[in-house]
Amino acid sequence: MLLEVRDLRVEFRTRDGIAQAVNGVEYAVDAGQTLAVLGESGSGKSVTAQAIMGILDMPPGRITGGEILFKGRDLLKLKEDERRKIRGAEMAMIFQDALSALNPVLTVGDQLGEMFVVHRGMSGKDARAKAVELMDRVRIPAAKERVRDYPHQFSGGMRQRIMIAMALALEPSLIIADEPTTALDVTVQAQVMDLLAELRRELDMGLILITHDLGVVADVADRIAVMYAGRIVESAPVHDIYKAPAHPYTRGLLDSIPRLDQKGQELYAIKGLPPNLTKIPPGCAFHPRCPMARDVCRTDVPPLYEVTPSDGTRVSACHFWRECLDDRVDGHVNG
Ligand code: SF4
Ligand code: MG
Repeated sequence: MLLEVRDLRVEFRTRDGIAQAVNGVEYAVDAGQTLAVLGESGSGKSVTAQAIMGILDMPPGRITGGEILFKGRDLLKLKEDERRKIRGAEMAMIFQDALSALNPVLTVGDQLGEMFVVHRGMSGKDARAKAVELMDRVRIPAAKERVRDYPHQFSGGMRQRIMIAMALALEPSLIIADEPTTALDVTVQAQVMDLLAELRRELDMGLILITHDLGVVADVADRIAVMYAGRIVESAPVHDIYKAPAHPYTRGLLDSIPRLDQKGQELYAIKGLPPNLTKIPPGCAFHPRCPMARDVCRTDVPPLYEVTPSDGTRVSACHFWRECLDDRVDGHVNG
């Protein structure tokens, strides 16, 4: 396994008390595989990614437990200079907002080239050639000329491609993309997503795709891990989730995607809001919003139950996952 996160816990000190941002997250991604991590904002998906990258702002954030195994080594046991070597060279991150992640006063060629000068000891001229090659690879038209342009001279979609090029520069084995297409319009979103998926295949990388939008990952993900209140609530091969979710929260997310065959029908929305992370509800954290909640849900934290998958592993943190599965199979649409 390329990356395995085990029982990861992260806390934040806030004015209201300790926020449990990540509460025992477990997920894994292999080389050549795309894992989509899905959840509303505040579910802990970005914080988990930052912990993996070693860029969690500390304090007030603090990793209080767990392991992050990357190629078999626990990253949490490494010294900062060892982490720094891994960052960029072996794992890289793509952020939502390319404009603030790129340096506005350097040409994109200089920024891309710098990776090769700093990490590979290349000459300026060779680094420039590499920059053009990367821009070609992410299909930026007229790369030879555009290598001299500044970030603001590119469209949002093209800037996101430059971010992808930066991430790819040193051929990392893992890329984490945090809402990489959220700021783009729908057509451009699909193009950037397709590009990422294609590069992942070509380069046999592991890709973690963080998103709040189940609709954008359907075609590119192998597996989906759904997060709620800092935990994984369902994790499964993508087809299993689309066929029949085994957690009411996943079902809510699925029912809130607009579907072409149901035009004109009102979209389902999960009622209520995600919990305040300083006051996570007892039992199942989702119970105040769950249409299937019963007494036991208010007292007993659901473990990750094993659900029979079509292939690979599948888990659900719902006491009534079986009923949830059966519901969809019977054609009943919740809400
Ligand atoms: Fe809903 Fe209970 Fe399942 Fe939680 S454990 S998702 S409250 S049915
Ligand atoms: Mg986020």
